[in-house]
Amino acid sequence: MRKLIIANWKMHYGPVKAGAWIRAFRRERLPKEIDIGVAVPHTSLAAARSSLGRAGVPLLGAQNSFWEKEGPYTGETSPTMLAEFGVEFCLVGHSERRTHLGETDEMVAKKAVALQKAGIQPVICVGESEEAHKNGEAEKVIKAQMKAALAQGVKATGSAPLVVAYEPIWAIGTRKPCSPQNAREMHEVIREVIAKKFSKKVAQDVRILYGGSIDERTVAEYLSTTGIDGVLIGGASLDPRVFGLLCRSAAPA
Ligand code: PEP
Repeated sequence: MRKLIIANWKMHYGPVKAGAWIRAFRRERLPKEIDIGVAVPHTSLAAARSSLGRAGVPLLGAQNSFWEKEGPYTGETSPTMLAEFGVEFCLVGHSERRTHLGETDEMVAKKAVALQKAGIQPVICVGESEEAHKNGEAEKVIKAQMKAALAQGVKATGSAPLVVAYEPIWAIGTRKPCSPQNAREMHEVIREVIAKKFSKKVAQDVRILYGGSIDERTVAEYLSTTGIDGVLIGGASLDPRVFGLLCRSAAPA
């Protein structure tokens, strides 16, 4: 399975800076054996697409989508609108959206299904709070989030296959990453839920990423850990040269 590295700019970079980032990143020497994507704010999709042209690297992603195609949903953006920019994947249910915008498991599931219908790969983010982690409830929380995320008909495989990102909230932006061993255990929990819903074979084919305080020094260790099929990168993706270095560090020489 090809590894996947996704940059999540979060709410950074309008069109001007987004275009500059893409152009600078494309000057980096990048490993061919790894898939690389960048999730940009909606306002920067057009600029990012135009700087990218038809190039396949990096894959263009969005950070959120609504579930309906069109209608009276002021301020929302539909998967078909994202598809018009050539968006190839979209983050769904990032913990910052769950925390600050009240995104629920049910919304996450609906968004993932709608994205697949528009041919966009959903990257469903799950992760437990620091409190749940400390109370030994991580597994229970992740199982519940995963079951709910798969409950509305999302497909595991196909032309826009499901990707899952395990992002413990306590590790995001804290410089305190979850250890590779701990992440591996949680990825096994996620894979078990997918296997129960689909099959063991299908579960083996779904890419499960780890996200939370990874940088260019630590990425290789995570990607060489069994069951970690890629990484989601926030802070360390803001500088295109650092992100380029991170991508190179991820590929064993
Ligand atoms: C994220 O927000 O998806 C993330 C992984 O952030 P960071 O790398 O900054 O912890």
